[in-house]
Amino acid sequence: MNVIYKVDSDAVIQDIGGSWDFFAKENEGPHLLSSNVVGTSLWTYIIDSSTRKLYQDIIVRVLDTAEPVNFRYRCDSPGMKRFMNMNITKEGTGVLFNSSVERVETRSPEVYFSIKSKSLAKIIKRCSICTKLNDGTGWKEIGPWLSEGNFDNDDINLSVMYCVCEKCSRSIRTIPGRQTLYTGVDSRR
Ligand SMILES: [Zn+2]
Repeated sequence: MNVIYKVDSDAVIQDIGGSWDFFAKENEGPHLLSSNVVGTSLWTYIIDSSTRKLYQDIIVRVLDTAEPVNFRYRCDSPGMKRFMNMNITKEGTGVLFNSSVERVETRSPEVYFSIKSKSLAKIIKRCSICTKLNDGTGWKEIGPWLSEGNFDNDDINLSVMYCVCEKCSRSIRTIPGRQTLYTGVDSRR
């Protein structure tokens, strides 16, 4: 299953393919269906500033060097861990993002995330690449992080601030050309 989108050099979405509509329906809602997304800026959908900066840097790099950038990331739903591969290539004067599912695992209990209001006291950060959490005690997988808290087996709702963790940011920015980048995402077990 692939999600494909092409942006121009100003990050305006030119075209969408693959299973975009499937993910849009499952994850975000019908306002993200492809018919509504073509012609809009990619930055409309990448809200947090550090993830946006990372993607801006990747677009500039791919356009400058014509070398592909390839890295692993996570795109989870509440009950599913999805291990993804992102391949970003130059196409014409734009950039093609091709995102594919490598494997999935179910998660129980389900974990729901919402974006945290900054006024609340305790901040939990969530990496938009590897989905690890950091409550100030270091970056941890969701499972180990939950097991340290006293959560019962009901569905869990967490308010988080999205960002890119230091490990993912460093590894994506320093990847040499034509190699798969191993971020904080463990694609094996
Ligand atoms: Zn990360």
